[in-house]
Amino acid sequence: MSDGAIWQIGNGMKVKIWSDNWLHHKTTLRPKPTITVSGPIPTLVNDLIDRDLREWNLASISNVIDPVVTNLIRAIPLRNLTREDTLIWPWNNDGMFCVRSGYHWAMENLEAVCSVPEHHSHQVEKKLWKSIWNMKVIPKIKLFFWRALTNSLPTLRNLFHRRIRANPVCSFCNSSDESAEHAILLCPWTACVWFGIPLNYCVNAQSVTSFDRWLQGVTACLALFEGRNKEVLVLVGITCWEIWKERCSALFEGRSPYPYSVIRRAISLWGEMCPTLEAITCPAPSASPPHALWKAPPQPYVKVNVDGAWHKNSMQGGVGCCLRDSEGRMLAGLSKACLRNSAVEVEAEAVLKGLLLAKEENCQKIILESDSMDVISCMRNENLRGNWRIIPLILEIRRLSSWFISIKWEWISRQANQAAHAAATLSNMRV
Ligand SMILES: [Zn+2]
Repeated sequence: MSDGAIWQIGNGMKVKIWSDNWLHHKTTLRPKPTITVSGPIPTLVNDLIDRDLREWNLASISNVIDPVVTNLIRAIPLRNLTREDTLIWPWNNDGMFCVRSGYHWAMENLEAVCSVPEHHSHQVEKKLWKSIWNMKVIPKIKLFFWRALTNSLPTLRNLFHRRIRANPVCSFCNSSDESAEHAILLCPWTACVWFGIPLNYCVNAQSVTSFDRWLQGVTACLALFEGRNKEVLVLVGITCWEIWKERCSALFEGRSPYPYSVIRRAISLWGEMCPTLEAITCPAPSASPPHALWKAPPQPYVKVNVDGAWHKNSMQGGVGCCLRDSEGRMLAGLSKACLRNSAVEVEAEAVLKGLLLAKEENCQKIILESDSMDVISCMRNENLRGNWRIIPLILEIRRLSSWFISIKWEWISRQANQAAHAAATLSNMRV
C-alpha cells in the first residue's frame, strides 16, 4: 500500500525528489524530468528549499520539469523547516490509513492492475466461489451472487434474449442495456448508494467490464485487509442485493428507485450481520447550527470573519478577512492572493491571516467565524487531527491563538459570511 502514501514536506531531508511521492496531486505524485539530464541534479527535496527566505528555490530543476509541476511544488507551503517530513495517507481526510479509504484506493488502483484479460465465456474463478460460499450472510445473498455470476438474473437484457421482453434498455436511465453490471454498478442512481454506504466507493465505469470480473477485483483487494476483509465483502454483497431488490420493486411499482432507503437498509442489515463494525465507519464531525445572518459580537469582543476562494484549474486562491466591533463597524480588512493545492488549505490560510490581522490591531478578545468546518472543528477540539493538508497550518494557528486572551471559534454559513467571502473572491479575481 506504500505506493498510495505521500510525503508532507517539513524540512525536506527525508524525501527524494525523483523517486518519492510528494506532490499533492491525484495523478502527478512526483516530478519527472522532461529531458535527459546531463550533469549533477539535486536529489533531496531539501536541496530545493531556500532556508533563509523559507521559500522554494526551483532554479536548479525548473528547466527539466514541466511548468505545471513547478506550480504544484510552489503551491506546497513551507511552514516550519524544523519539522520532519511525514508520511501521509492522502486518500483519507486525516491522512491516517484506515480500512475504508485503503479499500477505496485499492479498488481504484487494483481494478487496473488485476484486470483479467478479456474472455468471451466467463469462467468464474474457484477462489471467488469459495469466498462467496464462506460468507457469513443470509443464504439469499449468496444465492443472489450465484445468479449474478452465472448471468441468470432476470435483467432486461436476459429477458430480451429469451424473447420475453421487447426492449433490453434500462428503464431508469434509458442509456444502455440493462445487464447485471448495469443494474448493480453502472445505472446512475446506484452511484449514490455505493458512495453512501460506509465504503464511500466511487464506481469507475471504465474499469467495470462484467460483474464477475468486478467482484473478482473486489475480492483481490480484500486480501489486503486482513481481519476486515470478510466484513467488507458482506457489505458489498448486501449492497448488491439491496440495489437489486430496490430495482425490482421500483420497476414493478412504476416509480424511480430510492437510493437513500437502499443505503439505510444495507447499513442496518450489515449491522445485524457484523456486530464488530464500528471501527470501520468514521462519523462526520457534528455541525453547529448554521446562522443565516451575520450578527455583531457582544462587547468587548471583535468579530473576525474569514473566507477563502480557490480555483481548481489555476490553483490560484484568495483569502479575505474583516474585523468588526459590537456596533458592526469595520475596524480592518484584508484580501490577498495565494497559490495552493486545495480549497481547504486556502480556508485555513484565511483563518491564519485573520488571526494575524487581529493581533496587529491588538484585538485580544475575538470571535473568529469561518465557513470551513475542517478548521473550526480542529480549533474547537485540540485532539482532532483534521484534514492532512492543513496539519502544518493548524499547528501554526494553534500557536498563534495562545496570544489572545479569549477566542471563540464559530462555524457560519457562507451566506452569513458575505463580507469575507467577497474579499476572498475579489483578491482571487485580481490574480
Ligand atoms: Zn440504467
